[in-house]
Amino acid sequence: MEEWKRILAASITKPKDLAKHLDVDPKEIEEIVGPYPMRITPTVLATIKAKGDAIWKQVVPDPVELDDLDSPDDPLEEDLDSPVPHLVHRYPDRVLLMVTNQCPIYCRFCTRKRLVGKPGFLKKGELDQAIAYLRQHREVRDVILSGGDPLLLPDHLIDRILNALRSIPHLEIIRFGTRVPGTLPQRITPELCHMLKRYHPIYMNLHFNHPDELTSEVKEACARLADAGIPLGAQTVLLKGVNDDPEIMKRLMHQLLLARIKPYYLYQADLTKGTNHFRTTVETGLKIIQALQGHTSGMAVPHFVIDAPGGGGKIPLLPNEYLLNLDEQGAVLKNYENKIYHYPQPARGRSRELPMVTSSSSNGWCSIKGVYE
Ligand SMILES: *Cc1c(COP(=O)(O)O)cnc(C)c1O
Ligand code: SF4
Repeated sequence: MEEWKRILAASITKPKDLAKHLDVDPKEIEEIVGPYPMRITPTVLATIKAKGDAIWKQVVPDPVELDDLDSPDDPLEEDLDSPVPHLVHRYPDRVLLMVTNQCPIYCRFCTRKRLVGKPGFLKKGELDQAIAYLRQHREVRDVILSGGDPLLLPDHLIDRILNALRSIPHLEIIRFGTRVPGTLPQRITPELCHMLKRYHPIYMNLHFNHPDELTSEVKEACARLADAGIPLGAQTVLLKGVNDDPEIMKRLMHQLLLARIKPYYLYQADLTKGTNHFRTTVETGLKIIQALQGHTSGMAVPHFVIDAPGGGGKIPLLPNEYLLNLDEQGAVLKNYENKIYHYPQPARGRSRELPMVTSSSSNGWCSIKGVYE
């Protein structure tokens, strides 16, 4: 058995084993892991320093998960945007493909809590069905391998999926969404990196929520991926009691950049049943963005988004602070130090002096609309 599989198998999944390491009541945990499985890898267990700390909250089952009765199981209505099993086609040119429902850890706040860690996910032939869908849909140029965690599949299966995807000429980029590098870094083997490299352009968005997750072992795993030429992004979920603080968030963003990971999205927590105790106000996220923008490297500022309940997709939010007014004269702007600036519009009427563009392109868009708008 490969070393990473052995380490994954040594993860904690049973309440009585958890009680050997942490101060928990195994009977209380037992009730929760029926509906919502637990898994804690040795790497993650080793980063828990105190009861209820930022790592603990993310992975140790909490009885309040079962008190949340009215919230939806699938608030993003992914199941309604799924033309074939395990494929979500919500945006015009990209799709999400869930290739497994297994994860290195089961995050207590997971949006897909309804699916992850349960048996019997991918049935025979379903992957072929998804590949066939992609082959027929020429508008899809970007596929995101997700789950669950796609990097928990064995190398030969990842190889087979990538090979099938790369046989589709209109697919341009392949992305992975994964929490493996931060929780099971041993999985990022030289063999895996070598295989992934053959299918470029491959991008990865890694899941990190707290600066303590970036241990030296984790950073080394990220370096192996970056050295394989894979651009690394990070997705972070805003979580009450974990990272809902500008200073913690700034430290996280700096740690990510040090590991050659570019912060991509900061998500407002979803409404998923069993996770509502993690939700913060929307203002908390806006204040964090405000505390980052201008105060530190622009590279360290993720897009803050709400994945709209009901399947509206990701909607970006910016603090309502920067644009004070906008009219024909120009924009009145406030910078990060609360100083006011004016940006004038280009001279009015100027565009009318431009020669009229006659419609030469077949869609005609460059003509009148382009000039006079
Ligand atoms: C997040 C997401 C994507 C990718 O969105 P980007 O903004 O391109 O990163 C695609 N499909 C679904 C269903 C998603 O939730
Ligand atoms: S790794 Fe991702 S998919 Fe898996 S439990 Fe955590 S948030 Fe959910």
